[in-house]
Amino acid sequence: MRVAIQSKLESSGTSIFAVMSGLANEYSAINLSQGFPDFSIDPLLQQCVVQAMEEGQVQYSPMPGRLDLREAISEKIQTLYNTVVDAQTEITITAGGTQAIYCALTAIVNAGDEVIIFDPAYDCYDPAVRLNGGIPVHLNLKYPDYRIDWDELSNRITPRTKLIMFNNPHNPTGTVWSTEDLARLQKIVTLHPDILLLSDEVYEHIHFGERHHSFLENPLLMSRSFVVFSFGKTFHVTGWKVGYCVAPPELTSELRRNFQFNTFCVNNTMQCALAKYMRSGDTWTGIPALYSEKLDLFQNLMTGSRFRKLPCKGTYFCLYDYSAISDARDTDFAKILTREFGVASIPLSVFYQDGSDHKILRFCFAKKTETLKNAAALLCKI
Ligand code: PMP
Repeated sequence: MRVAIQSKLESSGTSIFAVMSGLANEYSAINLSQGFPDFSIDPLLQQCVVQAMEEGQVQYSPMPGRLDLREAISEKIQTLYNTVVDAQTEITITAGGTQAIYCALTAIVNAGDEVIIFDPAYDCYDPAVRLNGGIPVHLNLKYPDYRIDWDELSNRITPRTKLIMFNNPHNPTGTVWSTEDLARLQKIVTLHPDILLLSDEVYEHIHFGERHHSFLENPLLMSRSFVVFSFGKTFHVTGWKVGYCVAPPELTSELRRNFQFNTFCVNNTMQCALAKYMRSGDTWTGIPALYSEKLDLFQNLMTGSRFRKLPCKGTYFCLYDYSAISDARDTDFAKILTREFGVASIPLSVFYQDGSDHKILRFCFAKKTETLKNAAALLCKI
């Protein structure tokens, strides 16, 4: 007999990342869909894992995360953003950025609260709001340059608006904020003293041109925000699922109140390895150059194709318009590309609530030179 369950996420199917990666495997296609590097990590980080194992660091860590790791993060934040963050009361180590986002929402969203999300949006935002009884309010970034319309945002704030979610550098569009964006937000926040913010900055180190402007550089924004980071993106270890959330003490203690019953603590061995690695010296300054080289390579190789590139200022994703090739829906075209031409990508419309289809695909370029060359060669044949 089948068990009848009333789904809490009826409208959400299987994540597009699982679908496209599954299709890539089935058709042995080059997988530029899901965002994960296919190159080796720093051997020193590997050695740090071995050392952590040899030291027997295999039992639970403290609930908010190992203090040595939180202290290393605090030092990094001071160096990078010139901000003092208390390792004891303002940093929590989570199972990736995803869990930080989920726990932040669980901590503060009550039934009927509105949460503003900008589309195209990373796919965990909307379900996490709904699972917590909140009402997602979706605004679109302005096509084709994907900027936030700050006036529209001001107009959509209501007495029920609890939180506004931001992502910078932005997946999937590759846009990054300017200082003007921070100033516009600061003005809005000043007018609405009860609104909280979530800033998803998991791609803080992947930007080309303008440097990353973190909420952690702005005392007003920081005093209202959960700021989310991911070691998966920073050190090319997406499968470790270790990230962290920086928030003022009162927000952090509320986040930890539910985090402790959600998972209690994160993989101690990996936390120990990450702390050792971060203490080994400067572990992040080479990241923009690494990805800038990959982006240049892919974009140069793609000039021989009929795909039209869109600007990319950050993240390890770049967008291409395929309207010169086909007028199929992007979800169909992405499948055709995988099955018939051997390259998997992500159709942009899946990041929109309203299904906006601008004939654009997202390609992940966090790949070895060989992978990028092979993929571009296939794409240039179309
Ligand atoms: N936010 C964004 C914008 C992302 O792209 C991702 C990962 N793809 C995450 C959060 C989640 O990060 P993690 O893998 O550390 O959970």
